Amino acid sequence: MLSTYEYPEFPYRQSEDQKSGKVVRRPVIVAGGGPIGLTMALDCAHKGIPVVVLDDNNTVSVGSRAVCYAKRPLEIWDRLGCAAEMVDKGIVWQVGKVFREEDLVYQFDLLPEEDHKLPAFINLQQYYLEEYLVRRAADHGDLIDLRWKHKVISVHDQGDHVSVQVETPDGVFEMECDWLIACDGANSDVRKMLKGAFRGQFFQDRFLIADVVMKADFPTERWFWFDPPFHPRQSVLLHKQADDVWRIDFQLGWDADPEEEKKPENVIPRLKAMLGEDTAFELEWVSVYQFACRRMDTFRYSRVLFAGDSAHQVSPFGARGANTGVQDVDNLAWKLKLVLDGKAPEALIDSYSEERVFAADDNLLNSTRSTDFITPKSEASRAFRNAVLELSHDFDFARPLVNSGRLSTPTPYVNSSLNTPDEEPFHSAMAPGTNCADAPIGRDGEDGWLLNALGDRFVVLVQGEDPGVESLDVGGVPVAVLVVGKDIDDAHGRIEARYDMRPGTTYLIRPDQYVAARWRAFDAEKITAAVNRALCR
Ligand SMILES: Cc1cc2nc3c(=O)[nH]c(=O)nc-3n(C[C@H](O)[C@H](O)[C@H](O)COP(=O)(O)OP(=O)(O)OC[C@H]3O[C@@H](n4cnc5c(N)ncnc54)[C@H](O)[C@@H]3O)c2cc1C
Repeated sequence: MLSTYEYPEFPYRQSEDQKSGKVVRRPVIVAGGGPIGLTMALDCAHKGIPVVVLDDNNTVSVGSRAVCYAKRPLEIWDRLGCAAEMVDKGIVWQVGKVFREEDLVYQFDLLPEEDHKLPAFINLQQYYLEEYLVRRAADHGDLIDLRWKHKVISVHDQGDHVSVQVETPDGVFEMECDWLIACDGANSDVRKMLKGAFRGQFFQDRFLIADVVMKADFPTERWFWFDPPFHPRQSVLLHKQADDVWRIDFQLGWDADPEEEKKPENVIPRLKAMLGEDTAFELEWVSVYQFACRRMDTFRYSRVLFAGDSAHQVSPFGARGANTGVQDVDNLAWKLKLVLDGKAPEALIDSYSEERVFAADDNLLNSTRSTDFITPKSEASRAFRNAVLELSHDFDFARPLVNSGRLSTPTPYVNSSLNTPDEEPFHSAMAPGTNCADAPIGRDGEDGWLLNALGDRFVVLVQGEDPGVESLDVGGVPVAVLVVGKDIDDAHGRIEARYDMRPGTTYLIRPDQYVAARWRAFDAEKITAAVNRALCR
C-alpha cells in the first residue's frame, strides 16, 4: 500500500524528575497526547498554566480515523493559534448530498450564511491535525512539557492531589499533580484504574475504511449513498482529504469477516465497482471498524477530570468524536485556571461535568439516531428507512427525516446553573448557554472578527451606548467592556442581526465564548451578580 504521509517519530528523553528520583508536584498533568490532550495542553499554556503531557507512544495517530472538523472546534483552535494551517491544508466543504441507489434524494448546506471567519467543515487526516498540534505545543516549550513514551500505569487520588506512576524506557517513577486530565482515549487506562463507569450501546455492524490516492473530479462535498448499485443493501460514504487522498467507508454488515475484508484482493473490486474500472487509484490505508455510543457517569472523579474519548465515545456518523472533545477542553481550561488561581471554588469544576455530560448526551442521542437509520436492525426499521428515502425524493416534509449522520454542532447548555435567565424578550438564538456566533468587525482601522476580539476572558459586549467604564473587577476577576460602535465596528451589521442588538443591549460572555447573561441595558450590579453566578461563587 502507498502511504503519502511520513509519520514523525518524536524523541524520548528521560525527564529530570525520573533522573533525580525526586517526586515533583505539578498543577496539571495531562494523560494522553491525542487531539484532545494536545488541545488541553495548548489551552493551559495559553492561560499561563504549566502542564506536563504524558503519552505512551511517540508518533501521531496511525491510519485513518477522524476526517471532518467542524466550525466550532476550528474557532477554538484559531483561539489557540493553530487553525490557519489546518484550514490551509484541509479540504473546505459545506454541502452534503445523499443518494438512494443512483438518485439524489436530499442535499444540505451546513453554512448558508456569509460572514464567518471559519468554514462549516474541513476534511483533514487526523495525523496532520495532531502533527500541527504537536508543532504548536513546541512553540510553548516554556509551559508545555511533552513527554513521549511515558505511559501512565497507576493513579492514586490523595484527596488534595493525585499521584501518578509512569513507565518509560528507563523504568518506573512517580509524579504528583493538583489535577490530572485523562485524555487517554476510548480505552482509557486511567478510567479503568479509577473503576470509572462507562456505559452505553455497542452496535452490531462493521464498516470498511479504504483510503485511496486518486485524481478524481468529484466535487468537494460529502456524498452518502444508501443501497447504491455498486454496493447493494449497504451504505457508502465518500470524503475528499488532503493530498488527493479520498476516504471511502463501506458498510459491511455484522457477519463480515474483518480480516478477509481488509485483503486488497477483496477491497480493490469494491473500489472498482464504485469508481469504475478505468479510474486509477492506489490504496493508502485499509481497516475495519465497529462502533459504540457510551459515556462515563460523571467526568469528574475527585481530582481526575476526563475529556474526549476517555469520557464519551460516539459512532463516527456525524463527526462528533474529536469535535466534541475539543469543546470539553474549551469548557474546562478557563474553569481550571480560575480554580487554580483561587478565584473560583471547586464547584466550578463540577460545572464542567454538568455542562459537558449534557453535551455528551446530545451527541450520543444524535449519533445513535444516525446509526439506527444507517444500519437498521430489523426489517420494520429498514422498511421505515426506505419509505423515508423514497418520499424524500418528491416531498419536502420527508427530507429532514433522512439521517446520514447529523453533523457536529455545539450543544447549548440551556439549563446550566451558570446561566442567568433572560428578563426580557430577545429575537436571537444567542440565549444564555449558547456559544457566540462570529461576525466581521472593524477594529483600530483594520478588519477583524468578533470571536478574536472576545478572546478567552469575561467580556461585556454593549451595543452603542458607552457605559463609561473599560472594565469591571468582580472579586479579582477582570471583566472587559467592549462597546460596539466605539471599541469595535459592526462592519456588516451582523452583530446587530445575530445578537438582536438595540442601543444599550448588553451581553455577558464567558471565557469560552458562551453567553452567560444578556439584558437590554448595562447594569453593573446585574453584571456582577451574573459573573459571580458563572463562577459558582
Ligand atoms: C473511523 C473513525 C472515524 C472518525 N471520524 C471522526 C471525524 O470525522 N471527526 C471527529 O471529530 N472525530 C472522528 N472520529 C473520532 C476521533 O478519532 C476521536 O474522537 C479522537 O481521536 C479522540 O481523541 P482523544 O485525544 O480523546 O483520544 P485518542 O485519539 O485515542 O488519543 C489518546 C492518546 O492517549 C495515549 N494513551 C493511551 N493510554 C495511555 C496511557 N496509559 N498513558 C499515556 N498515554 C496513553 C494514546 O497513545 C493516544 O495518543 C473518528 C473515529 C473513528 C474510529
